Amino acid sequence: MTVREAADPIAHLEAAGRFDRILVGGHWILPLSDKRAPVIDPSTEETVAEIALATADDVDCAAAAARAAFPRWSATPAAERARLLSRVHQLILERAELLAQAISREMGAAIAYARAAQVPFAAEHVRVAAENLASYAFTRMRGTTAIVREPIGVCGLITPWNWPLYQITAKVAPALAAGCTVVLKPSELSPLSALLFAEIVDDAGLPAGVFNLANGTGPEVGEALSCHPGIDMISITGSTRAGVLVSKSAADTVKRVALELGGKSPNVILPDADLERAVGPGVAACFRNVGQSCSAPTRMIVPRERLAEVERIAAATAARFVVGDPRDEATTHGPVSNRAQFERVQHMIGMGIAEGAKLICGGTGRPEGLERGLFARPTIFSEVASGMAIAQEEIFGPVLTIIAYDTIDEAVEIANDTIYGLGAHVQGADMEQVRAVAGRIRCGQVHLNYPAWDPQAPFGGYKRSGNGREFGIEGMEEFLETKSILGYAAA
Ligand code: NAD
Repeated sequence: MTVREAADPIAHLEAAGRFDRILVGGHWILPLSDKRAPVIDPSTEETVAEIALATADDVDCAAAAARAAFPRWSATPAAERARLLSRVHQLILERAELLAQAISREMGAAIAYARAAQVPFAAEHVRVAAENLASYAFTRMRGTTAIVREPIGVCGLITPWNWPLYQITAKVAPALAAGCTVVLKPSELSPLSALLFAEIVDDAGLPAGVFNLANGTGPEVGEALSCHPGIDMISITGSTRAGVLVSKSAADTVKRVALELGGKSPNVILPDADLERAVGPGVAACFRNVGQSCSAPTRMIVPRERLAEVERIAAATAARFVVGDPRDEATTHGPVSNRAQFERVQHMIGMGIAEGAKLICGGTGRPEGLERGLFARPTIFSEVASGMAIAQEEIFGPVLTIIAYDTIDEAVEIANDTIYGLGAHVQGADMEQVRAVAGRIRCGQVHLNYPAWDPQAPFGGYKRSGNGREFGIEGMEEFLETKSILGYAAA
């Protein structure tokens, strides 16, 4: 049997007895209630497993376990923490197929995409955290004062379902690198990859209690973490709605709150751009992961005089997508990940039509030939006005809006015309102008002419996209306090 044939995450987790357990203090234990939640395969809407849900009481136990582990872990030499993280990285690579199958099952990613992006990019966060830790100067001198960076303490980490493993490693790896101990609450909609990740951390030999897993719902486990007096920091990746609720709950305990929230990212195509190179990859980037990426460039902002050409290339690109069974190797786009999201996408496509935007391709309903499952039609609207709901609200599905501009000032104004400020793209031939436009966009990360992904580039939001930074050195520094020790050196 090949690794691929053997990789059945459901059978694996069942055999290991993980579905009714959470990981607390190094032990896979039964939660304190018998509440359960289904894991639904969005390509069939069938329940493929059930997981046990933790409660607020379980959060107390997990926070206590993380607190007990903190003194020793925070004092563990950086080189040893880096060694253990490298072991986690190695195990992710060794179990990549199992993880890819789990992600495909729980949130519908096309298996080819799960293998090529979801898993390897997730592994990169762990590799980068280990690498940065090995060379990080936790103490720096400023005159006779020492500036010391120390781990903030016990961290509650709350993650979404869209890039389930990637969002977990983007938080867990830098937090552990910093010397913090953690309680992870993954999305209750995508718990399979989280259970496999917890198993990996356990097998890598991290000391008991350094990493704890509490599966559960946002209103129960997420809320319990947010207001918990024994937790020093919360980092959440999710919707702006959930980020606001977490911030309010966390306020009474004055804990640090790092928010990685929604987006409606612009892709500004400048008048001198080569449209064949600018439009196709922009459409692909918008529809990657079925449009379920927080920084997906969902607003293509194009010169009005070239609108017809843009529409032609965009529609031709979307026509090449293969929407279907996520386990089929030829599929490029699987279903939308859950029913709530499917209904939201349908509603927003209907809204675009009602608002009078021009439908270039797609529309409401399922693609032809797909009778069941949460499949949506890749949809492109043109002649979109920036004030329309489809240009303002995060849809989080396979929907692109094309907005025309007359001047570069207007293009920049449209790019900045939402409550969000997460990612942006700029395309053009004159690099001086491309850089100038990038400098005027109010957001945390800008991509010029589709560069390769850089896991060392800090990522995060301006405005209501959040206040945190993940990835790279800045991602680890999120989890550090700053202590200055005056008189540290002789004057
Ligand atoms: P969501 O907000 O519904 O859930 C995210 C997480 O928050 C889940 O674990 C959920 O259980 C938890 N949660 C929900 N309500 C909570 C509460 N009251 N208290 C504490 N926790 C709570 O988001 P989602 O649907 O899972 O993910 C999609 C959203 O995530 C999109 O808005 C997307 O833009 C955003 N996102 C942002 C980034 C980023 O880095 N900025 C990355 C990926 C996704």
